[in-house]
Parts: sequence; structure tokens; C-alpha cells
Amino acid sequence: MAAKYSADNILTEFHPMSSCTVERRGSVVVLTFGSPPVNSLGFATRRDLAATFESLVGDANVKAFVLTGRNGTFSAGADIKELGSSEFMKPPVLWNVLDMLDASPKPVVAAIEGVALGGGLELALACHYRVALESAKLGLPEVKIGVLPGGGGTQRLPRLIGIENALNVIVGGEPIPAKMFAGSPLLDACVASDCLAVAVTLAATKAAEVAKGAALPRARDRMVKEPNLQALLQFARNTVKAKFANFPAPLNCIDAIAASAVGSFEDGIAEERRLFADLLAGAPARALMHAFFAERDAAKIPDVPPATKTRDIASVAVIGGGTMGSGIAITALNVGLPTFMLEMNQEALDRGVARVREFFESQAKKGRLTPEAATSKAALLKPTINYPDIASADIVIEAVFEDMAVKEKVFSTLDTVMKPGAILASNTSTLDLNAIAAHTKRPADVIGTHFFSPANVMKLLEVVRGKATSPEVLATVMKFARTLRKTAVVSGVCDGFIGNRMIEQYSRQAFFMLEEGASVQDIDGAIEKFGCAMGPFRMSDLAGNDIGWHIRKRRYAEQPEVTYSKIADKLCELGRFGQKTSAGWYDYKPGDRTAYRSAVVDDLVAKHRSELKLKTRTLDAREIVDRLVYSLVNEAAQILDEGIAQRASDIDVVYLTGYGFPLWRGGPMRYAEEIGLYSVVQRMHELARNPWGDPEFWTPAPLLARAAMSGSFNAAKGERS
Ligand code: NAD
Repeated sequence: MAAKYSADNILTEFHPMSSCTVERRGSVVVLTFGSPPVNSLGFATRRDLAATFESLVGDANVKAFVLTGRNGTFSAGADIKELGSSEFMKPPVLWNVLDMLDASPKPVVAAIEGVALGGGLELALACHYRVALESAKLGLPEVKIGVLPGGGGTQRLPRLIGIENALNVIVGGEPIPAKMFAGSPLLDACVASDCLAVAVTLAATKAAEVAKGAALPRARDRMVKEPNLQALLQFARNTVKAKFANFPAPLNCIDAIAASAVGSFEDGIAEERRLFADLLAGAPARALMHAFFAERDAAKIPDVPPATKTRDIASVAVIGGGTMGSGIAITALNVGLPTFMLEMNQEALDRGVARVREFFESQAKKGRLTPEAATSKAALLKPTINYPDIASADIVIEAVFEDMAVKEKVFSTLDTVMKPGAILASNTSTLDLNAIAAHTKRPADVIGTHFFSPANVMKLLEVVRGKATSPEVLATVMKFARTLRKTAVVSGVCDGFIGNRMIEQYSRQAFFMLEEGASVQDIDGAIEKFGCAMGPFRMSDLAGNDIGWHIRKRRYAEQPEVTYSKIADKLCELGRFGQKTSAGWYDYKPGDRTAYRSAVVDDLVAKHRSELKLKTRTLDAREIVDRLVYSLVNEAAQILDEGIAQRASDIDVVYLTGYGFPLWRGGPMRYAEEIGLYSVVQRMHELARNPWGDPEFWTPAPLLARAAMSGSFNAAKGERS
């Protein structure tokens, strides 16, 4: 049979090493395609599937096909590493394979186990029939990486499940259990077991019907019937415009779905491809894909191979039941881990336990957990004030006061009581982990787990690798982070680790700009408009202005040469610590987190400026954003150069998951590369010439200076090693 889509004979070639296997069950051929681990539809898989199908479709002994994926899963979709590369468009492209199945004169049944996501689901939609295991997950998650289902998903799915459901699946992007589609034209059968056998039987039955002249059902031939089409589309557009102002993909998804209801299938496909290409060429999709890969890469540690042995973590102990300790305990309890909480006295323990119980009660009240689940999770908490009670825990996470003397005492006690092999972790934000480890006789078992507040909400976990931390302990904690549903990023030991070390420079700039003439509102407003979740002043009010004050006091003693504006100290001297005192850079009202402009702060700033005898000026939004973001980037380059961060993209992950940096900009490092590192350095030179600027501050870090010439941080880092 001649290839329909390509002049070359790639389809008729036989590949002895084909990734697609053939099994004949009577007159039904089972084609098992894919490559581990998730049968993504990369070039080789597409080529082998197409070639195998093409070689069999003309065989008179073959009456029908069943298409199934290898290793108990259908397919997780396109190989996104190929997106934007020449491999993605190397024939047979996904469209070609889908067209071939769709056009088959013999029935093709998809047997779906595991997942059918993205291109995987589109492959199934192009088959004539679909049988799924109830437990399988179906979805079109392309929107999450900034594109849309470009393999006919926006055209076939609405024809099978209607516009409203298709909008939910495609714009929502979440995987949905197959049993939710049982009884709809999307699935011809949804079974509890024996998916493949049911699919083979269905294929044989349909082949017999075809032999008697029955036509094959094709999603493309169905009509979309939606009486409320315009209202539904308008509602969907309004919702995504409000929610995803900076992400074009959801709107394009809606436009593509709309096309399924108005014209022919072919016109709809053309529109889908146009909208897909449009997204693929845009910066947000590139940033989202960068973020996707960055998160995957962050889990990789070059000198700790994936096969590194890990220890079992079946129980946790938390020392300290304050803000962080109780949040960490909630995180562990939430995933079903029995968790000890140890406090220094009964009163403090009761407070910590109350925090945990209140959390689970409120989850039940809000309907986020069933009352039974909330009770059983909370029941896994084991409060104590006696160290011997926690000796059996597999990991202990210390979250006591940020004071070396207190931590030292805790760690020497842990060293004596904890069972051999227990991991000893510290949640310290600023203290030297190597010094903490030195208070034990097992420094190889000591590691930092720097959670972010609120610990049960924030996704980021900085995993701090001490100089003696063993690879086994590091690998175990990285795996433990996944159990806790955290995104872990490895950091070396330094003051502030990756995230807070950078934020200190960002805050310094914010305070300098306040002195120079920008208001609190100008600065927060500009960076929030840029896309950050919160400006530096609102963020500081949330975290507590006293934390930064404490750090600055230490800096004045340890690094007197570093300049800081004194404005923030003056604010703290007034007791304005932020939300917790209902007064900070903004005013707050009881029970209301809205930040109101503060006349007290305006007076304080005016007085401070006149004391400094500064001639103030207007700072525009561009200057504000550049100074804030480039202060992050410059410090990050230094962090990267020192090997504190493993790679530039890890820094992006820290800022995307822990500091509210706009996802559609891909993180500070990615953003700087998108602007062009050479331009970033030029701009820093310009900022250094600002009469009130700090030329020292704006001196490019050596790695940034090198990267400006080579074009990327990776290239500059590689040049050195
Ligand atoms: P916190 O003051 O709210 O809680 C500390 C708790 O530790 C208190 O309940 C106290 O009773 C208890 N404690 C003190 N000494 C103890 C001892 N010897 N044995 C047992 N319990 C003891 O402080 P927090 O904000 O939860 O901070 C805890 C740690 O987490 C610090 O190292 C801090 O730097 C770090 N951290 C804090 C944040 C944050 O935003 N608050 C974020 C990341 C990391």
C-alpha cells in the first residue's frame, strides 16, 4: 500500500529493531507500540508504528487492529524534547500517523491502560473505537506547557463529548479518570480488567460487521451540537482572560474548540494547526517548557546517580512545633506518614499540636478532606517532650529557634538518641549546616531541608548539601521530597542558600529606590505588573520585617563594608513588623490582609529622605523592574559560579516555586537570557552611573560577565569546567 502522506518510502521500510511489536490473535492484530517509560510519541515510535501498520493493513488475513502501549500504559503523548526541534516535524509526524489510522478501511481499536495523555489521547481519538481500563487517566495537558493539543484533539474531542466537556478537559489540562467518560461516545467500553481482551473481542466483532457492509465510525464525521455555543464560549473566554492574562494558550484552546462547531473537520484542523504554531513561536510557551524541563532537571544530581541506594522513610520526627515545625508536620501527615512532634515543654507542645489539629479540622470544614480522612491524618501525629520517644524515626527535621547554641544542643542530643541510619535534617534559613553537622558524630547523615512558609503550602524545598552529607542521604531526601509533593532543589551551604541570598540583594535595591524617590506603591506596583506575585514590601510585611532586620544587624557586624539603606531599620524601630503587628510598609485592619497605604510610612520616608539630603527623582517602572530583577540575576550568577546552585535552571525553579516569579517568564535566569545577557550587563553599567547608584553593587559577577559574551549561563559555566 502506498504511503498517503509522503513521497518517500519510509512507511514501507521494515525495521528489524522496530519498537512496535505485532501479535496475531486470529484475524485481529495487536500492535504494541512505544518506548519506555511512558511510550512518548517521538520520531522512532511514530516511524515504527506507521511502518508496521502500513505493512499489515493490506494483508487479507488481517481484519482488524488493536493498538496498545507497552508496559501497561497507552502513551503520555508527544516527546516534548522534540517540540521546536527538527525531529518534531520529521515525517511521519503525529498528524500522519493519526490520518493513517483514521483512514484505515479495517477497524482500529485503542486499548487504553495507564495513561492516554496529550498526543497519546489524540492517537486514541483517531482510532475507530476505544476501550479503557476504569483506572486509566485521560487528558490533554498541552495547555500546561503553553500550547494546545495540535494533533486533532481540539476537533475530535468536542465531537465526542461536546463543547462544554471538551473545554473542561482541554483548557483545564488535568488528567481525568477514564470512568468519568464511561457511557459517552469517547469510550466504547470502560472495564475494570481485561482491557486488551475486551478490545480484541470488540475488534473481531466490528470486523465482522464491516465485512457485512457496516461503516466505520470516525470522530471526524460527527457533528458538534451545542445550542448554547456562543454563551459557553463567551463565558470560557471571560474566565480565562481574567485568570490567565499573560498566558495565550487557554484562549487559543477555546478558539480551536470553537472551530470544531462551525466548519468542516478539515477547516477546524487547519485552524488548530495555525493556533498551535502561533503558540509554539511565542515566549510564554518557551518559558513554560523551560520551567517543565527545569523542574525535571532539578531532581538530577550529577555525582549522585539515579541508582544510588536510598533509605526507607516510613516515619518522621519534627523538633519544634512553631510556625515551621507545625507546617512541616502537617506536610508529612498529609501524605500519611506517622509524625512525632517534639517541643521543649508541654505548653509549647500543646500550641504546636493545636495548630496541626486546627489545620485538619479546617480542611474537613472546607470540604477539602472528608471528616474521616482529616481525623485519620491528624491521628498520625505523636506529640512528645521526651527525646527517647522519637528515637525510631527514619528522619528528624529540626525547626527550633534560629540560634546556633539552641541548634547545637538539639543536634548533640539527636546524635545520642536517634537510631543508627536516621537522617538528621535542619530547617535552618541562615546558619552554617557544616557547623551544625560538626556537633554530631555522624555528619554524613546531616542535611538541610529548607522549607518555605507556610510549609504545608509552598512547593519549594531547598535541600542543603553539607560538605559531609553522603550521596545516600542526599538521594533519600530528594526522594522524600517527592513523597511530600515538594519540588526539591539542591543548594550548597552559604548564608541564605539560593533563594534568600538572592532576595537580600533585591530588598537592598528596593530600599535604595525608596530613598531615591519611588514610593512603596510604585515599587510593588511595577514588579507586580511585571508579573511577580508580590512586590518586595508586601512580601516583607508577610514574612515579618523583623527577620530582615535581624539579618541586617548581623551584616553590620560581620560585613561593615556592605551598604544598606537604614529606612527599613527605622520602620522596625517603630515596631512595624508587618501583617503580624497589623502595621508594616502598609497598614492592615484586623482580619483583613489588604495592604493599605500608610501615612506613617509616607512621613517616615519623607523624613528619611530629607535627613539624607537626597534630591529625589521619579523612577519609572522600567528602572524599578530592571533594578529588582537584575539584582537577583547578578547574585544568582555568583551563586552559580560558586557551585552553590548546580545549574542556572535550578535557580529558576527556586524563584518560580518559592518566590512567586512569573511562570510565563520562566524564572530570572531564563528571563535574563531572553533579554540577552549582553544587554543585561550593558544595563547594569548604565545603572551604576546613576548618581545615587552603587557602582559596586552593579559590577557584573564574573560568571555573568563571561555569560554576556558566550550568550548563556550554561555555556559560560561549561567554559570554566
Ligand atoms: P518559631 O519561633 O515559630 O518556632 C520555633 C519553635 O521551636 C518554638 O515553638 C519553640 O518552642 C521550639 N523550640 C525552641 N527550642 C527548642 C528546643 N530546644 N527543643 C524543642 N523545641 C524548641 O520559629 P519558626 O519560624 O518555626 O522557625 C524555625 C526554624 O525554621 C528556624 O531555624 C528558622 O530560621 C527556620 N525557617 C523559618 C521560616 C519562616 O518563614 N518562619 C522559613 C524557613 C525556615
